[in-house]
Amino acid sequence: MVRRKAVALYSGGLDSTLAIKLIQNQGIDVTAVHFYTGFCITETKRRRGEKKEDGSHYMNPALRYAARYGFKLEIVDISDEYFNIVTNPKYGYGSNVNPCIDCRAFMYKKAKEIMDEIGADFLVSGEVLNQRPMSQHLKAMKIIEREAGVEGLVVKPLSAKVLPPTIPEIKGWIDRSRLEGIVGRSRKRQLELAKQLGIDEYEQPAGGCCYLTDENFARKYNEVISFQGSISRDDLYLLTIGRHFRLPTGTKVIVTRNEGEGRFIRGLSKNYWFFEPVGKGAVAIAKPIENRELTEEEIKTIADLVARYCKTDETGKINIKYSSPKYSLSLEKKEGIILGEKLQEETLETWRI
Ligand code: SF4
Repeated sequence: MVRRKAVALYSGGLDSTLAIKLIQNQGIDVTAVHFYTGFCITETKRRRGEKKEDGSHYMNPALRYAARYGFKLEIVDISDEYFNIVTNPKYGYGSNVNPCIDCRAFMYKKAKEIMDEIGADFLVSGEVLNQRPMSQHLKAMKIIEREAGVEGLVVKPLSAKVLPPTIPEIKGWIDRSRLEGIVGRSRKRQLELAKQLGIDEYEQPAGGCCYLTDENFARKYNEVISFQGSISRDDLYLLTIGRHFRLPTGTKVIVTRNEGEGRFIRGLSKNYWFFEPVGKGAVAIAKPIENRELTEEEIKTIADLVARYCKTDETGKINIKYSSPKYSLSLEKKEGIILGEKLQEETLETWRI
């Protein structure tokens, strides 16, 4: 008998872990695929070397649980192509800037490419009918599969019994009666299944695993769009980092919140105006509109803003080093040290995005 193969979209969460187990238990050879969009909160923080509040490191849940449960795993970075999905989604956004329908369709398309490449027969997803408002109701699921060109090929083992039969079920590659019929947001059945299937450790369903569903991220995204009319790739990815301010002159300032962000921003320092304390504290990049020079007044203002997040002397002062973008061909190189004096909170708050 031919051993059927499947490609499973794998987040590392409980639902996709259970989905894979249910399919593997029917003798199917499953390859788990984890897509990195550039907006996965945990993975982005892990890549930057950020630490959690308790000092521990972030771990990629897909890597962690694939290793724990013995899944074959491929991690595929789709962040480059994903820019267009975020900025120009055919089916619009959910409650924030989450283009879930376009996002799922894109992931299915990519998963189908892998499926064809490795000669697999179908796809597996841990989605549950009506669990999430934008992409997991029946109409959206149908649109997603049609857009991705995978109609009938995606088995959703957790909800299969309440969904139309898929090709693998109709052809008897898998037994529909051994799949589940879960609907909605309750996790009760998933927790029972986890016990039955020996899944003794899993990522807590914290929600918010995607920056695009975060309302702070959405506010910053919408501010850039209303200010500039469009958003560049760099501007978009910078929204995942730091505290964001818009000065009255239009200059954007991003101040780091921790060491991991500091390391990341230092890596970009040659592309932007860069500010760092002579001592301990946050670093910042600044981007004037139309990439013009910063004025002396703006340099002083930004130094004061950065000082607010640094270890100053008892009078609230600290020297701040600054430099113009080293990679700019049009700007004269400029650098120096200026006294930063902690900016008043009220002023700072009026500029915070
Ligand atoms: S929350 Fe939406 S946009 Fe984010 S990864 Fe999931 S489906 Fe994609």
